Amino acid sequence: MEKRLVYADYAATAVPSERAIAKAVPYLRENFGNASGVYSLGMRSARAVFDARKSIARSIGARPEEIFFTSGGTESDNWALRAAAELGAQKGKRRIITSAVEHHAVMNTLEYLGKQGFETVFLPVDRDGRLRAEQIADALTDDTALVTVMTANNEIGTIYPIEKIAEVCRERGVLFHTDAVQVVGHIPVDVSELGADMLSLSGHKFGAMKGIGALYVRRGVNIDSFMKGGAQESGRRPGTENVAAIVSMAEALEESLEDLDKKNARLAKMRDRLTDGLLGLIPDCFLNGGREDRLAGNISLSVKGVEGESMLLMLDMMGIMASSGSACAAAQKDPSHVLLAIGVDPKLAHGSLRLTLGNSSTDEDIDYMLEKIPEGIAKLRQLR
Ligand code: PLP
Repeated sequence: MEKRLVYADYAATAVPSERAIAKAVPYLRENFGNASGVYSLGMRSARAVFDARKSIARSIGARPEEIFFTSGGTESDNWALRAAAELGAQKGKRRIITSAVEHHAVMNTLEYLGKQGFETVFLPVDRDGRLRAEQIADALTDDTALVTVMTANNEIGTIYPIEKIAEVCRERGVLFHTDAVQVVGHIPVDVSELGADMLSLSGHKFGAMKGIGALYVRRGVNIDSFMKGGAQESGRRPGTENVAAIVSMAEALEESLEDLDKKNARLAKMRDRLTDGLLGLIPDCFLNGGREDRLAGNISLSVKGVEGESMLLMLDMMGIMASSGSACAAAQKDPSHVLLAIGVDPKLAHGSLRLTLGNSSTDEDIDYMLEKIPEGIAKLRQLR
């Protein structure tokens, strides 16, 4: 088969949306005004931010005043966790409950809060990566300040029962945050149905520019600002607005939600063909995470006897762009905490391969990967 370029790392970042780029460009050029400016050029930017906020709110079932623009998922997670912890501490509540498989933006913020005297509880997941709402209910105490559980996992694609978890938290009057970075733009999200108090999202995961995200904060949840500065974002997230990125995010989200069921059905079909094909063609190769409640574009494999990094280099030479574990963990040598949490043997976890598909993925890409990946792995195994 002729060499081709195959992008299979959508969970790291999506292919940028042409519509989102077109929407952003005028705000990098002629409409460059500071949204705080009182002249028409500034007001044009302010209007664009106003419209984008309305659009994003509509896309996730929120009110515009509940959307706060941030620099991305990492900042949204940091802000939500640190501010909720502070709020809890003021009431003498210092316990924070989470899962063992959160993204580093949550994990490392909790590690920091742990050093500040908070008690952090990491609930285990089962072999399929699942967590039950009952586990949260059992872990809740009167001194719990916050529960934070991701909507879906970035490595193994497991989708969590957020509605049920939110309900458990609401019944006990505990704040609930969810990191929905891998979900917004990929699965319909309606915050009023979901019941979370705070929700993090990130633009580049659904085709917007990088460095833009948002934190949804339910009306009545009075978390303090993360940074101190000017009056932007009602004073809760100061700093001159990144207008181009903000409008790109609103446009990309609207686009992602169009025909979403159809897109997901197509992705799930490609995902299953690639998963079954690779499991059949590669000896000693295992699927990480269960098949149920899994993001439509996610495949995570553990391959015996090969190093993740050599696999990625080999695939790159073949034109296939993939990752092992999460993009942020790519520079780390330790096996993924997510794979360890689902019980993958540490040695095997070193040979992990994540392939994540998206809108630009085609059946020809799947055919190509089905031919090249087993070939590449066989070559690496011969070199041992
Ligand atoms: N949370 C999850 C689940 C993610 O997958 C990511 C990105 O990989 C982040 C947070 C961080 O988002 P950002 O890259 O916008 O900082």
